[in-house]
Amino acid sequence: MMKLFLAAVLSLAAAPALAAQVNAVASFSILGDMVSRVGGDRVAVTTIVGPNADSHIYTPKPSDAAAVAGADIFFVNGLGFEGWMDRFVEATGYTGALVVASEGVAAHAMEEEHEDHDGHGEHEGHDHGATDPHAWQSLLNGVLYVQNIARGLCTVDADGCATYTANAQAYAAELTALDATVREQLEAVPAERRKVITTHDAFGYFSDAYGVTFLAPEGISTDAEPSAADVARLIIQIKSEDVRALFIENMSDPRLIQQIADETGVTLGGELYADALSQPDGPAPAYLDMFRHNVGLLIPAMEGN
Ligand SMILES: [Zn+2]
Repeated sequence: MMKLFLAAVLSLAAAPALAAQVNAVASFSILGDMVSRVGGDRVAVTTIVGPNADSHIYTPKPSDAAAVAGADIFFVNGLGFEGWMDRFVEATGYTGALVVASEGVAAHAMEEEHEDHDGHGEHEGHDHGATDPHAWQSLLNGVLYVQNIARGLCTVDADGCATYTANAQAYAAELTALDATVREQLEAVPAERRKVITTHDAFGYFSDAYGVTFLAPEGISTDAEPSAADVARLIIQIKSEDVRALFIENMSDPRLIQQIADETGVTLGGELYADALSQPDGPAPAYLDMFRHNVGLLIPAMEGN
């Protein structure tokens, strides 16, 4: 009886230690999940751009500014992903810790092939020559994000640093293991079949890491409509190369891809998670789930190419 009583008292006494020590804000859902994994119980995470939402063209709300104003640390992707970020940070007057999660990633520029073929140079509104911001689409880049997150949390909460470092190591081990699995699974698909059409150029790092070619009517940002000529060229390419892996994205307008499906007679392979997670009850509520889901859709679709 005494033991039970003591246990109850001890668990009550321990309860306050579980309250979050750090208020963190993350710019988008994938990053928010990573911060939660590294921060554990010590960190309360608020995410600005939520599930299934588009970070490229987001308009911050007053509640976002309030969240940042009360934050100890603010995590952003960087590489130009959040086009609204500089104005937002300036408007909020935020002067706390700011961590660019992609720091140290070997960034690459957008591939401009499909715009350069026509020879007339620029399309208005496209992010020409801009850096591709979608670095999380390589799991090993995800490991870099996790290390940057842990380092950032250590600067604002030294007492928790050992916890963050341990969480980051365990999480990075999961990411590295999935990376190896994904490589192995994709290598089993014949190289000439590894071609995919999706809405916007979000899979450049995936392409480099895992040897899959992605073709997209839209550029690296979703802020501009592709021209009719871009779409026509893509349709010709789909027909001439007999590409059957055609996908919509969770945070992009599906109409253009649906039009391409109609015009080519190709059946949609499903919905890839590019720049945002799903809702908690969806197929991609976390970064690791997102990767498993995408690869699980890509492989059977590419095998049909
Ligand atoms: Zn994107």
